[in-house]
Amino acid sequence: MQIRRKSACSSVLVLCLVQLLCFGVVASSERGEDREAMVREQILARGVKDPTTLTAMRTVPRHLFVPESMSQHAYQDRPLPIGHGQTISQPFIVAFMTEIIKPGPGRKILEIGTGSGYQAAILAATGAQVYSIEIIPPLADSAALRLKQLGFTDVKTKSADGYYGWQEHAPFDAIIVTAAAEFIPPPLIEQLAESGLMIIPVGSPFFVQTLMLLQKRDGKTISTNLMPVRFVPFKRVAEE
Ligand code: SAH
Repeated sequence: MQIRRKSACSSVLVLCLVQLLCFGVVASSERGEDREAMVREQILARGVKDPTTLTAMRTVPRHLFVPESMSQHAYQDRPLPIGHGQTISQPFIVAFMTEIIKPGPGRKILEIGTGSGYQAAILAATGAQVYSIEIIPPLADSAALRLKQLGFTDVKTKSADGYYGWQEHAPFDAIIVTAAAEFIPPPLIEQLAESGLMIIPVGSPFFVQTLMLLQKRDGKTISTNLMPVRFVPFKRVAEE
């Protein structure tokens, strides 16, 4: 009896140690109430129900993905500036796009527009294998460092024009584009696996765009318009 209790005790101790060693877990325990309120009032209330997505939104410390001066606003119902004229999307949009592409263990996902790295971290928190491309080198560098420091060590990032996708890791089960494109880049359609899902805001950078869902079936794409959105423009040349 005593031996069994001792070994149970030591397994709990080992578990606690492992959690303490993982900075991500420590960080995610901060501002948990803010995240809980964000999920309840902004995400569940608007119909996002997928448990995997909700758990990821409750776990990833969004306040560590925004500039320190914005930290107090991190859990508010709005996008926030992240420097270089770019923004981190509103929490609801992140959750909505995540739910739609069904991330989870064993799913290989490509993101175009790493930005702060928040959406990539949410996808990684579901257990998906994440590849993320950012066209602005300083943003790509800071997101890569942040993801590493927060324990998202499996996310693969690179600084490049996401128009061309990431051929060497294709095909992807899902592709998520977080900048508004005037048309869907053909290389991304090519790199989508059969039955794969792509979510992308399409339209002029100066107006409201349409968030579109594409599914590849028998080599063809079927598209559905989901809702009007405002995203920063999909760039074609690295400007900074
Ligand atoms: N997903 C991000 C938010 C991204 S904002 C987050 O969670 O923080 C959109 C990002 O797309 C910006 O950082 C912008 O620089 C990037 N972007 C725009 N055009 C791109 C392109 N052609 N390839 C890769 N990234 C691009």
